[in-house]
Amino acid sequence: MRTPAPAPTVTAGIRAEMLIGGDWTTGTTTTTFPTLDPATGEVLADLPDASATDVDAAVRAAAAAFASPDWAGLLPAARARLLLKVADLLEEHAGELARLETLDQGQPLGVSAGFSVPNAIEHFRYYAGWVTKITGVSSPLSIPDADHRTVREPLGVCGLITPWNFPLMILVWKLAPALATGNTVVIKPAEQTPLSTLKLAELIERAGVPAGVVNVVTGGPETGRALVRHPLVKKISFTGSTAVGREIGAECGRALKKVSLELGGKAPSVIAADADLDAAVRGNLLGGLLNSGQVCAAYTRFYVDRARHDEFAEKLAGAAASLRLGAGLDPATQLGPLVSAEQVEQTARYVAVGRDEGAELLTGGHRPDTTPPGGFFYAPTVFAGVGQDMRIAREEIFGPVLAVLPYDDPEELAGLANDSEYGLAAAVWSRDIGTANRLARQIKAGTVWINMMQGLDAAAAWGGTKSSGIGREMGWEAIEAYTETKSIWTSHL
Ligand code: NAD
Repeated sequence: MRTPAPAPTVTAGIRAEMLIGGDWTTGTTTTTFPTLDPATGEVLADLPDASATDVDAAVRAAAAAFASPDWAGLLPAARARLLLKVADLLEEHAGELARLETLDQGQPLGVSAGFSVPNAIEHFRYYAGWVTKITGVSSPLSIPDADHRTVREPLGVCGLITPWNFPLMILVWKLAPALATGNTVVIKPAEQTPLSTLKLAELIERAGVPAGVVNVVTGGPETGRALVRHPLVKKISFTGSTAVGREIGAECGRALKKVSLELGGKAPSVIAADADLDAAVRGNLLGGLLNSGQVCAAYTRFYVDRARHDEFAEKLAGAAASLRLGAGLDPATQLGPLVSAEQVEQTARYVAVGRDEGAELLTGGHRPDTTPPGGFFYAPTVFAGVGQDMRIAREEIFGPVLAVLPYDDPEELAGLANDSEYGLAAAVWSRDIGTANRLARQIKAGTVWINMMQGLDAAAAWGGTKSSGIGREMGWEAIEAYTETKSIWTSHL
């Protein structure tokens, strides 16, 4: 970051410019930053490291678009059609988007083509459906000679700041409801993975969304800070680490801006004594190692009845060890690289901590030697006999490291699951519907999945409690998050 460099380069098919007010531009900045292919470590493109001046231009373009008749005057049915057009274009370019996501982020093509891109497309369709159904209420007043009704109005310019683990999908969780409700946006993608965001912006432009409604600035934390602090930005929607979320929350609090924060997690997976162990191993393997564990809701700490702990841990380790590691673009790959060298180092550090803390390493714990040289790979790692107070059971690793913890008393399960600063998600495995639902109610988390790996749907609210965040995305909740209620009174006199 911040090293003087020549104008950004453009590799074939990759856009390395920002979108500001309908213009593709390198902005006023004189510096660039590289985005890498995590499978090889090679530079894919150099992008502009947007300055505060560039951010200001993008926010002003979004503010102008918010007031323009081309956008503000668009009737709901027309806005719905625009979102459907975006979805159609995404579908038309689904292969290209998936390839780009895999190239830049590292996730296997099966994940990008089978999950990330389809989820993004369905999100646009789901929120297109809402556009014509955002209603207010008429209130039964107890004072005479007046009527009261509410309308939901857009907020204005929203700053959308996204992480690198599911760059396209997580952006769309914010963008689709923001546009459905008539806002305009400035997007700041993660510096490690900006490419699918730029491609999406290109398709949105092609769909006919008016210039300035969607703007993209590229850069790192400083660019993000400039966006958060800009006085014309009315709301920040942020997904990322808890530490940065706290900083953004404090900044928005001071400025009295609306803010939603989707932050870190350390999801417990509670395997009751009566659970179908093989189904639990399968579901937890996928739930723990999807996208190489770089999932905020990854199942990372598995509570297993002491009598079945060894069997579960050994089966989980065996299944993890059999996964095929490789470049995401190789169709045979089951586990891709981590996003960056830093993420490999972080994973290796936590594995060393786990060993020092006395956990039993069953598999992994090293960088593989069979993967492409230069790539950011780490072997899937399973620890058994992990203690509740060990750091590998408490801190977010965001890598392919799974911790199996034995428990003795089922009555203590909810307490163990809740003994965490995080509260994003959890899983419960039991054949007994009463046990499963009781635990689901007792666990403090935004989402609990029963007998399944993580499922996500545009219709199902998503978000965390405790240090995992504030606010909800998806479903009707996202419509509320991007609108404000106005009361309108009418006198009968
Ligand atoms: P990060 O917090 O380092 O960065 C996220 C984004 O914020 C990036 O675009 C980054 O450039 C920007 N940023 C960094 N510092 C900033 C600042 N001071 N002001 C404004 N913007 C700033 O997170 P990351 O490493 O990209 O993502 C991993 C984290 O995201 C994990 O903790 C993970 O759990 C979390 N996450 C949460 C969810 C969820 O839905 N709850 C989903 C995915 C990821």
